[in-house]
Amino acid sequence: MQATETTKIMNFDGRSVINGKRVAAISGASFDCISPVDGRVLTQVARCEVADVNAAVAAARTAFEDHRWSGLAPAQRKRVMIRFADLVQKHGDELAMLETLDMGKPVKYARSVDVNSAANCLRWYGEAVDKVYDEIAPTPRTALALITREPVGVVGVIVPWNYPMIMASWKIAPALAAGNSVVLKPSEKSPLTALRLADLALEAGIPEGVFNVVTGYGPEAGSPLALHMDVDCIAFTGSTRVGKQIHVMAGQSNLKRAWTELGGKSPNIVFADCPNLDRAVESAVGSIFFNQGESCNAPSRLFVEASIKDRFLEKALALVPSYAPANPTKPDTVMGALVDEIQMNTVLGYIASGKSEGAALIAGGEQVMAETGGCYVQPTIFDGVTPSMTIAREEIFGPVLSVLSFTDAADVVRQANDSVYGLQAGVWTSDINKAHGVARALRAGTVHVNQYDEDDITVPFGGYKQSGVGRDKSLHAFDKYTETKTTWIRIDSPV
Ligand code: NAD
Repeated sequence: MQATETTKIMNFDGRSVINGKRVAAISGASFDCISPVDGRVLTQVARCEVADVNAAVAAARTAFEDHRWSGLAPAQRKRVMIRFADLVQKHGDELAMLETLDMGKPVKYARSVDVNSAANCLRWYGEAVDKVYDEIAPTPRTALALITREPVGVVGVIVPWNYPMIMASWKIAPALAAGNSVVLKPSEKSPLTALRLADLALEAGIPEGVFNVVTGYGPEAGSPLALHMDVDCIAFTGSTRVGKQIHVMAGQSNLKRAWTELGGKSPNIVFADCPNLDRAVESAVGSIFFNQGESCNAPSRLFVEASIKDRFLEKALALVPSYAPANPTKPDTVMGALVDEIQMNTVLGYIASGKSEGAALIAGGEQVMAETGGCYVQPTIFDGVTPSMTIAREEIFGPVLSVLSFTDAADVVRQANDSVYGLQAGVWTSDINKAHGVARALRAGTVHVNQYDEDDITVPFGGYKQSGVGRDKSLHAFDKYTETKTTWIRIDSPV
């Protein structure tokens, strides 16, 4: 659908969802929701703060304690979660265009990746929840020890703007399926789809107060959630800088469980014996430019063995024009707008630092389409990057690839691990020993071998080191949103 056609049927209501109702901020304050596609103001969004967060947490607590959701049988929650997933699919075109207008990603991917992944995630946890059994411990005959899982209670969720629906669903789906109540704070840069998800959850039958969305800025609406004495768990995705504060806030308040999915500077290592050079080039280029480079797991440090680097880069440069930025509401666009002017200027600042620190700019490097009022940057490649340069060390979160070189496996593992981050990594080689050896040596939550694109809800996602604490996705995610209880029962056997 084209923007004009879809905009007519779209819901731009920027009010929060608390206790099942759309509400303005208690203070009456709001802020402009600006589209990075063309700079237009889409709507006003409720500028929530402490009082609104308190109201949302109180609603979530009441709903949890009266068991309107937490007390349902898992099979009953399953049916509602599946209805929720179906409604997300049914409204897929609308949600995709909303995401595109709000944060700039190409609508074709918003529909085929973001909507589908979010719906699949809701469905998967719904389907899983009545198939997970509790345990009985192997104790002596005189006792029975039950090990049961119980929902933690009220879960606060804070998410970023790069995959707004997916990041939210990775947390709300297991949290809700397990029986918790949730208060979600989306990024102030991309609040609209989270609000629509809350509408659809109500329509699906998730009771009022169980899933609340408070909109607003991090320090005003996020901090009160992380500091709240009646929130049992805070699940955060965002920058490492704010993630560290989340752990401090959890410690300063009620020692709530804090789970953080944070930044990355992922290495992608191409050995000279790579089995398919064309595929490696397409993957390296496609993965860094997908979502305008605004992906936590983007392979932003490309290590190419010295003997094949020139050939590799020649092929990579040939692909760059196909990633030229364009209006993301058009159905064929593959590279859209960066989320806002602040992020665009951050990216342009990193490009300037690459140039001034002596890296060779071999593609892109400029802002484009400024006349649209939107935020567009060319796909950019730097060669001759050295490990100490800023563009090799810091997360850029934009369409910028830093190319480094290496001589052997030991050299590249040392360089790849020389990072505060440890989210993902890629290894390309035909040598099975080298593949396994390097994969084991890399300090990363996920290692891809001879591809960088595989992803599935069935596998955990998260990082080592300062890329975060805990894992999203897979059955492991239930661990974050459940308490483990042991119940001892004495057995006085009559026989
Ligand atoms: P950010 O840390 O600036 O903001 C993330 C969220 O935290 C937003 O909702 C924001 O409003 C809120 N926030 C900001 N300050 C806060 C505070 N003081 N207290 C409470 N909440 C606060 O990150 P961003 O710019 O929105 O997102 C980009 C970052 O997210 C990148 O570093 C990226 O790597 C990371 N990310 C990680 C993953 C992952 O799974 N590891 C996935 C997506 C994005």
